Amino acid sequence: MDAQVDKINVGIETKRMITIDGSEGEGGGQMVRNSCALSLVTGEPFRISNIRAKRSKPGLMRQHVTAVEAACVISGSECTGLAVGGSELEFRPGRVIPGEYLFAVGTAGSTGLVLQTVLMPLILADGPSRLVLEGGTHNMLAPPFDFIERTFLPVINRMGPSVSARIVRHGFYPRGGGRIEVDITPSPLSPIDCLDRGKPAGVNAQAVFTGLPFEIAERMLTRAKRDLADWPDDAFAVRELPSDQGPGVILMLEARYANVTEVVSGFGQLGVPAERLAKTSAARMNGYIESDAFAGPYLADQLVLPFALAGGGAFTTVKPSQHTLTAIDIARRFTGRAIGLEQQNGGSHLVSFG
Ligand code: ATP
Repeated sequence: MDAQVDKINVGIETKRMITIDGSEGEGGGQMVRNSCALSLVTGEPFRISNIRAKRSKPGLMRQHVTAVEAACVISGSECTGLAVGGSELEFRPGRVIPGEYLFAVGTAGSTGLVLQTVLMPLILADGPSRLVLEGGTHNMLAPPFDFIERTFLPVINRMGPSVSARIVRHGFYPRGGGRIEVDITPSPLSPIDCLDRGKPAGVNAQAVFTGLPFEIAERMLTRAKRDLADWPDDAFAVRELPSDQGPGVILMLEARYANVTEVVSGFGQLGVPAERLAKTSAARMNGYIESDAFAGPYLADQLVLPFALAGGGAFTTVKPSQHTLTAIDIARRFTGRAIGLEQQNGGSHLVSFG
C-alpha cells in the first residue's frame, strides 16, 4: 500500500499528515477505523482517499460514519468529509477525554466495530470510561459480542487494562436494537507473547435464536454435530432469546484452551440453508483446531493494533488474512515501528512487534 507522509502548513508550524489510499490492501472499512484509533493514540493527523473503493457500494456506510463520529466525540477531533457515501476523510486528532459515552448505530450496524475504533484510545486515556453501545450485537462480517467477550478481551486484559463487557439485549440484522455496556479501567499496554494456546479446556456449540422456528436452530446443531464428531453430546445446546430481540439466529462454536478461546460464528441469513451455514462454521473450527496457532484469522487482525501500540510482544496465527496484512501496514505507518511476519515450521505464522 502506498500511504505517504505529506507536509501541510498549519500556521507557521509544519505538521505531518499521513496519507492513505483506501483502495489498496484489504480496501475496506477497517482501514478507516484503525486509522482513527491509531491517530488518536499517536496524535498523527491523516487523510484517507478512495474509501472502500473495492466494495460494491463504495464510500462510508452509516456504521463507518458512526465509528468515526465516536472517535471525534471522545476527543474533540476535527474531521472533514464525514458523510454516508463519502470517499475521502481528513482527521485531525484531539485529546482523548475518558468518561461515560453512549453511541447508537442508527441501523443494525455493528456495536463491535464502533468499539474497535474507540477502545484502544480509551484504554490509553488518563481515567476510566464506560461505554453504552446500541445497534447490532451479532452482525455478519463483524465481531459478535461473544467473540469480543471471550476471545478478544481476555488477551487485552493480559496486557494490563481491565475491560469488561456485558450484553443487555441482542441485536440481529436487520432490526438491530441491541445494547452492550463496556467498562474500561485504563493502563499502558504491556508487550506479551501469545505463542502457544495451551492445553484444551473444553468445547461447546450454541445455536442462539429468536423469532424463528426452533427447527432452524436444531438443524444447525444436527449438522454441526456431524462435522464435529469428537465433540461430546452435551456440548451442543439451543438457546431461545425473548422474541422482542429478533428475529435472528446465530451458531457459535467455542474451543477453549488454557491461554485462549476461539469463537467461530455462523450468522443466519435469509436463503442460506441452516445446514450449509453449520457445515462452513464447523470446517472453520476444525481448521483452527488442527493448526497450532494461538490466534484465528479474526483475532489476528484485531490484535495488531494493541500489540503495535504496546511496542513489543508477538503472537502466532493461522495464515494471515488480507485484513491482518492491511492492519499491519497501517499500524507501521502510524507508529513507525517494525512489525515482522514469518511462517513457522508447522504452518502457523509469527507476528512480532517492536
Ligand atoms: P467493509 O464493508 O468495507 O468490508 P467493514 O467495516 O464492514 O468493512 P471490515 O473492514 O471487513 O468491515 O472489518 C471487519 C472486522 O470484523 C475485522 O476486524 C474482522 O476481524 C471482524 N470480524 C468479521 N467477522 C468476524 C467474526 N465472525 N468473528 C470475529 N470477528 C469478525
